[in-house]
Amino acid sequence: MAEPIRITKVPIPRPKPKDSELGFGQIFTDHMFVANFQEEKGWYDPRVEPYAPIPLDPAAAVLHYAQAVFDGLKAFRGVDGKIRLFRPQKHVERLNLSAQRLCIPPLDPELSLASLVTLVGLERDWVPRKVGTSLYIRPTIIASEAFLGVRPAKSYIYFVILSPVGAYYPEGMAPVKIKVEDRYVRASEGGLGGAKTGGNYAASLLASEEAKHGGYTQVLWLDGVHRKYLDEVGTMNFMVKIGNEIITPPLSGTILAGVTRDSSLALMRQWGLTVSERQVSIDEVVGAHRAGTLAEAWGTGTAAVISPVGELTYRGDRMAINGGRVGPVTQRLYDTIVGIQYGQAPDPHGWTVEV
Ligand SMILES: *Cc1c(COP(=O)(O)O)cnc(C)c1O
Repeated sequence: MAEPIRITKVPIPRPKPKDSELGFGQIFTDHMFVANFQEEKGWYDPRVEPYAPIPLDPAAAVLHYAQAVFDGLKAFRGVDGKIRLFRPQKHVERLNLSAQRLCIPPLDPELSLASLVTLVGLERDWVPRKVGTSLYIRPTIIASEAFLGVRPAKSYIYFVILSPVGAYYPEGMAPVKIKVEDRYVRASEGGLGGAKTGGNYAASLLASEEAKHGGYTQVLWLDGVHRKYLDEVGTMNFMVKIGNEIITPPLSGTILAGVTRDSSLALMRQWGLTVSERQVSIDEVVGAHRAGTLAEAWGTGTAAVISPVGELTYRGDRMAINGGRVGPVTQRLYDTIVGIQYGQAPDPHGWTVEV
């Protein structure tokens, strides 16, 4: 039988921030979830305890060799007052897939799902109210063994922290300017691109900083071998509409299997749109722009849900997309997913889990 979750509460909960003052990832709730792993014991002592720093030996493997994975999902307070998680099973499953790639022992999916539901349930007063705001959930596993040899660690810490976050688009969805990155590479085939792990983020920072200094919001990554095929946009999956075909790169190992990507594909197929998971080259995009068939482009990810791309710059050439305005498929995806998350629209796929 599964070990029960031990709960230690703070004596006095802290005051909650105002919805209007929320940013992203700056404020954390009163409690966190923690479980430990040791080779001899497996995962043990699942517990909720007051949010606090985690003691870590300076020789802990994660600090030296980056053996760590995480995931990111959200809880929403619906217009009906109910609190819903969006596709938590899918996120828990992905955390284990990421873990497998980094030789981290998997969690019992029932335990990880229970960790999310229990912690969010306990912190329900921290879920902000305004549509667009949410409670961001960050499950993480780190290698904690104090050992400098290079091999998978023998001890790990799983923890979940929660952060109330503000609306991503307080003034409505705004298309962004993107630089097509043909110098730096985020991930290459056979590498870690398909895992949600900090190393991929470290690898992306320099390109992203240079793009920001150049006046762009983010970069569009190309494949590491040919510098030709589109991969991801920043830390989001990428979709482009050329003529009547909506194209997104296939899950070939270099890109992350986004839950928003999967949800968007399911919706568009349900709507009868032509959707392809196939390689798409930057030359095809440039050609489509010249031919006037580059209709829409957007990123998908938990943080923004949908992020419209208004302009792509490749080797100094600017390509405006849909006159820099939000396209109809982009808008429909955003409205539909957000509607399901806030209980404003029916949830025919059973994507939400009530807390
Ligand atoms: C998390 C992430 C995504 C988006 O995944 P969602 O499940 O939709 O949030 C896309 N790309 C990368 C690199 C990511 O880390």
